[in-house]
Amino acid sequence: MKTSSMSMGFTLSLSSSSSIIFHPCTKTHDVFCLARYHKKKRKGIRMQIASSTAQVSAPSRTQKIMENISTVSEAGGAGGASSYHALKRLDQLWLEIRTHKSDASAPTEVVKCLSGSYLQTGSKPRMLQFDVIICGGTLGIFVATALSLRGLRVCIIEKNILKGRAQEWNISRKELMELVKVGILSEDEIDEVIAVTFNPNRCGFMGRSEVWVEDILNLGVSPVKLIDIVKQRFLRLGGMIIEGHSVSSILTYQDAAVVKLDNGEALDAHLIIDSMGNFSPIVRQIRSGKKPDGMCLVVGSCARGFKENSTSDIIYSNLPTRKVGESRVQYFWEAFPAASGPLDRTTYLFSYMNAQPNCPSLEQMLEDYWDLMPEYQGARLDDLEILRVVFGIFPTYRESPLPAAFDRILQVGDASGIQSPISFGGFGSISRHLGRLSTGTTLSINHSLDLLWRSGFFACLNIVCIHISMCDL
Ligand SMILES: Cc1cc2nc3c(=O)[nH]c(=O)nc-3n(C[C@H](O)[C@H](O)[C@H](O)COP(=O)(O)OP(=O)(O)OC[C@H]3O[C@@H](n4cnc5c(N)ncnc54)[C@H](O)[C@@H]3O)c2cc1C
Repeated sequence: MKTSSMSMGFTLSLSSSSSIIFHPCTKTHDVFCLARYHKKKRKGIRMQIASSTAQVSAPSRTQKIMENISTVSEAGGAGGASSYHALKRLDQLWLEIRTHKSDASAPTEVVKCLSGSYLQTGSKPRMLQFDVIICGGTLGIFVATALSLRGLRVCIIEKNILKGRAQEWNISRKELMELVKVGILSEDEIDEVIAVTFNPNRCGFMGRSEVWVEDILNLGVSPVKLIDIVKQRFLRLGGMIIEGHSVSSILTYQDAAVVKLDNGEALDAHLIIDSMGNFSPIVRQIRSGKKPDGMCLVVGSCARGFKENSTSDIIYSNLPTRKVGESRVQYFWEAFPAASGPLDRTTYLFSYMNAQPNCPSLEQMLEDYWDLMPEYQGARLDDLEILRVVFGIFPTYRESPLPAAFDRILQVGDASGIQSPISFGGFGSISRHLGRLSTGTTLSINHSLDLLWRSGFFACLNIVCIHISMCDL
């Protein structure tokens, strides 16, 4: 895209010193190549240390498979990383969660609430830089664009590069059309981002009859394309994106909120939207570092070489409970054609569990997956080319959606706990709420309704649909 067509859209990057650099977004890539180069160098050193201390144990089958796949293009959001190193990192987090003691140290205080005015300090009243600052860009970009379309001044802060992951998102057309209703995408663009379509789709539980449905979770959307299209639209609307910097703290005042970044820069706005996912530092503070009530673990792959590849399994179980490590788990499958080729298929193995110290690690589940998946799909592992390994953990809390804890800070996406009871997450779950979220937020800002920036109002915005939605069935 040419710089001229982006005249209103700038990407803002912050240098490690105190200066703020504005530059047209076409140049962003070059700037961040350098940052990534330094990051890679640091990562390389860390990996060398890790491998030199782990010389004794032979690599697992999972490690061998994963280290054979090139993972150059990882993304920041849930399920965005697919390297063995990232798997070990997430497994370490999962170990810390499940062995968490009730007297574990309190989480860092990211948000501080101050009672005074921010706008009236100093000799002249200040103007706020933004109406809304969105922390975390994966699903945040959809909210940001919906708000920009309504005329608000919006900034996104994303600690990585704002881009979609390689692995497709499953969704139903009805949910995707919500993006058209809100004005974020045109119908033509909807067709452009649908990478693959499949029907019919099965739900089945071992020993029970199967149910086949049509047009439910039967689309694979390319997050890479989708986020890129919406990102460009957001920039053209005059939105600002800060990539490569983390939110480190937030101060809320009677009349504003101020976000501090990891390099000490500060940005102010009427409202902060926390879209930093399941492991948002703000959510951790609100939940006082509480151990999740439940956990959904998912592992899987996208592989080439399946002969039967036209239908999908939305949820399917073909096994009784089984012992993995020191605990018993019930496994469920999800499987669907992938967009990368006619013989390519994505298969996920997932399980719901209480977070107990003896729960299996993701790597242990993957070891099981390599044995069980070929049998489930009627294939031989040796005949399959593993293109990508995917994994994730979804913490769940009885107290959901998350009650808003601070005035001027609203959670959206996975951070909000508004997700569906079965999938515990989802792009689909934001699309259903976008209209209401953007109307409520715009109303509060356009009418300077202080009352609406109170946490009580946010509690109404983050209502939950108790029923299991079309996305789940
Ligand atoms: C294996 C797997 C398969 C899935 N399949 C599907 C599917 O088929 N369909 C579907 O709808 N959903 C699916 N999901 C769920 C979906 O990926 C998530 O619901 C979605 O990514 C949530 O987006 P989010 O923006 O709320 O959180 P995240 O994806 O976690 O993104 C949070 C963002 O915040 C950024 N961030 C974090 N901390 C900071 C900070 N301090 N400062 C600035 N930025 C920060 C991160 O870099 C990231 O970009 C799947 C998830 C997994 C793990």
